[in-house]
Amino acid sequence: MESRRSFIQKLGVSAVGLSGALGHTNVFAGNTSIPNNQTLKVAIMGLGSYGTRVAKAMKTCTRAKITGVISGTPSKITAWQKEYDIPEKNCYNYENFDAVKDNPDIDAIYVITPNALHKDQVIRTARAGKHAICEKPMGINAKECEEMVQACKEANVRLLVGYRMHFEPNTVEVIRMRKEGELGKIMFFQGQSGFRIGNPNQWRLNKELAGGGALMDIGIYAVNGSRYMVGEEPVWVTAQETKTDPVKFKEGVDETIQFQLGFPSGAVASCLSTYNMSYLDRFYLNGTKGFVEMQPSTGYGPIKGRTHNGPLTEPIVTHQTLQMDEMAAMIYDGKEPIAPLDGEEGTKDLRIMDAIYEAVRTGKKVNLG
Ligand code: NAD
Repeated sequence: MESRRSFIQKLGVSAVGLSGALGHTNVFAGNTSIPNNQTLKVAIMGLGSYGTRVAKAMKTCTRAKITGVISGTPSKITAWQKEYDIPEKNCYNYENFDAVKDNPDIDAIYVITPNALHKDQVIRTARAGKHAICEKPMGINAKECEEMVQACKEANVRLLVGYRMHFEPNTVEVIRMRKEGELGKIMFFQGQSGFRIGNPNQWRLNKELAGGGALMDIGIYAVNGSRYMVGEEPVWVTAQETKTDPVKFKEGVDETIQFQLGFPSGAVASCLSTYNMSYLDRFYLNGTKGFVEMQPSTGYGPIKGRTHNGPLTEPIVTHQTLQMDEMAAMIYDGKEPIAPLDGEEGTKDLRIMDAIYEAVRTGKKVNLG
């Protein structure tokens, strides 16, 4: 059996991402699995709270660099130019960013705007001949995602979704354990994802911009997690919604949804998505030979957990730093993460979420093709 480290190394955790976390100069010195060092030159679109977090994390990237910005707020552009040394010619707004087509300083656009804007922005990115990195949820339904995948295919550019957990070392270790049979046959997954949302006027509580409520924003972690933890695609969905505050959570904006997924092997998942409970960030996976419990499981970290063998002890990393270095290696070196995160994968999550909303609406079990 492979050692944990060599497995992680093969699967996509960059030497630098880990060595930084371990405080070593280079734990994988001599590693030849990274064939070239081409830097991914990224323009960030949407300079809000998560865009800012990504940008700060990218300061320590070795393969990815911020070279441009796209924003509707001139004062933010000026501040970012200063902080990230971005020349005027690499600054765009939402009206003129198609001109990025002729800018060799930008290889990819990272779309970090409200959910309902992702589709058009990714399609415009593709038509400008640039790779698209898109925040979750990739779109607000599967149909949008399919159009996005098609546009990126036609333009021959990559479409990657910002699923940072797919690179997180403890998560990668759990997926390795499951893949190598250390948990036996997987029987059950529980994913609980939620937080108490504040300001009632934010875009997350506006259906037009958010596409839904908690499920779109945070419940998606349980949806996506159920797929990489169980290692199968669900074939049926049931779901129930509860709403305690219909003023804050208007029509089409879900506060709390419980949903269940059934998998071809007979494994089942029981999940909860909410905007009205604190400290809800827990994954539990049960197999015939073992279990994994992670809490927190998808927050910014440190991710903590234990298995039937004891605590998870993989290195603590800055998720977004690792993600961007690894995405550069995906785009330039053909490297792939242990759990894929391209446009087709983002689409699969939205297909499940469409089915969850349908199950809530009809009260019926929804079969997935
Ligand atoms: P935010 O409100 O802090 O930032 C959104 C940005 O989009 C702002 O700069 C805003 O000015 C800009 N924007 C452009 N057009 C807009 C419009 N029409 N209405 C409102 N804002 C507009 O939000 P955020 O928390 O940064 O979330 C942005 C995206 O990132 C969302 O899709 C969210 O799901 C995702 N996100 C992902 C993670 C993660 O861990 N992967 C974490 C947080 C957010």
